Amino acid sequence: MRNEIKVIWEKCTGCGRCIPKCPLSAIVLENKKAKILPNCSFCGICVKACPFEAIELKRQEKIVDLSEYRGVWVLAEQRGGKIVPVTLELLSVGRDLADKLGVKLSLLLLGDEKKNVEQLRRYPLDRIYLVQDSLLNYYRTNLYTQAIVDLVKKEKPEIILVGATSIGRDLAPRVATRLQTGLTADCTSLQIDKENRNLIQIRPAFGGNIMATIVSPYHRPQIATVRPKIMKKASPKNERKAEVILIKPKLSLEKAAVNILDLIKEESEVKDLQEAEIIVSGGRGLGKAENFSLIRKLADLLGGAVGASRAVVDAGWIPSYHQVGQTGKTVQPKLYIACGISGAIQHQVGMRTSETIVAINKDPEAPIFNIATYGIVEDLHKFIPLLIDKLEKAQRSLT
Ligand SMILES: Cc1cc2nc3c(=O)[nH]c(=O)nc-3n(C[C@H](O)[C@H](O)[C@H](O)COP(=O)(O)OP(=O)(O)OC[C@H]3O[C@@H](n4cnc5c(N)ncnc54)[C@H](O)[C@@H]3O)c2cc1C
Repeated sequence: MRNEIKVIWEKCTGCGRCIPKCPLSAIVLENKKAKILPNCSFCGICVKACPFEAIELKRQEKIVDLSEYRGVWVLAEQRGGKIVPVTLELLSVGRDLADKLGVKLSLLLLGDEKKNVEQLRRYPLDRIYLVQDSLLNYYRTNLYTQAIVDLVKKEKPEIILVGATSIGRDLAPRVATRLQTGLTADCTSLQIDKENRNLIQIRPAFGGNIMATIVSPYHRPQIATVRPKIMKKASPKNERKAEVILIKPKLSLEKAAVNILDLIKEESEVKDLQEAEIIVSGGRGLGKAENFSLIRKLADLLGGAVGASRAVVDAGWIPSYHQVGQTGKTVQPKLYIACGISGAIQHQVGMRTSETIVAINKDPEAPIFNIATYGIVEDLHKFIPLLIDKLEKAQRSLT
């Protein structure tokens, strides 16, 4: 049975109280009666809002036996044989979820991947499914989808976590669609409703103006992609080693749709912000675009990358790939130096898990100081040239 919602005409008085309650504007008045439009998501808010019990909602019956699904899986992402850091971040949140549910945490590793297995076994996880086939050494949508879907149908995990990387964003929706289950993309926080074993998936919505909480109560597995650099990485533990389960998938190259002829590494002049250990970021406090030269100089001397607030990206002082924050990149360097950045919440969500945060701002009340490890209340035009001078002298004395 599908979800059904209807207005009981005899009871509806046309009071219109349901209309402003609908978050999707899916109710209108027609001939003095409420009418539900096709964009209704069957959330049921209007049912509660109607004082005359004139709206009836019949939800789809549970189509899967939820109790058959147990365990948390993390999809390991590897590129060219190297494990991508978000995998370790997913392992830390995955461990937490699995412990709360009292189930095993498993890692799904695809490819002819012997060399990473020993390293990954030392992380706090219970099992590694090694889906071994050289056709999976490099990401190919169809083959990865098929290998994962086949295994999920057999093993029935209740949660699958995937990095919200370009690969994860391509793969997870296909897997979810084939399994006819829900997917929440780009989560920034994950929690567990222990009673119903539902994954509470939290992510920014409506351009980042609200945080949405999403659950998938009637389908399994619950699939979430998680933004890189939001969670802390898991650390290796030596005391227990994960069991390795070898899977030989049935794949054929004809189904790949894509054939890999050659791999060419992109040459980039810009240091990858998300991989950088040191980031020096500039904001509107710089005063004008030309003053970004100070930020570049400092970043160069420290061997770091250049970041920016959205205000300066919007002003056209620097290209958008430098932007840190909710609508920019999420970063987690060892050292983040915020120069002339006020520390608006949208900026903070992209950098607050950095190991050490140094803020240079002339306003002692600037919100960035609430999260800074070290705060320098000073005009950046005085302070940064002094710092550059000291670093240059220190470098010269070393050579
Ligand atoms: C939906 C949405 C998404 C957003 N996404 C992002 C995002 O991804 N990233 C992001 O950064 N913002 C984002 N924003 C914008 C955010 O709200 C702020 O407007 C922005 O971060 C402010 O940038 P800023 O700190 O450079 O500028 P301001 O807020 O103007 O702060 C400038 C700071 O510089 C200081 N200053 C001025 N002169 C000097 C000086 N000479 N020396 C030292 N300090 C000085 C000031 O005291 C001030 O604190 C978003 C907003 C919305 C609504």
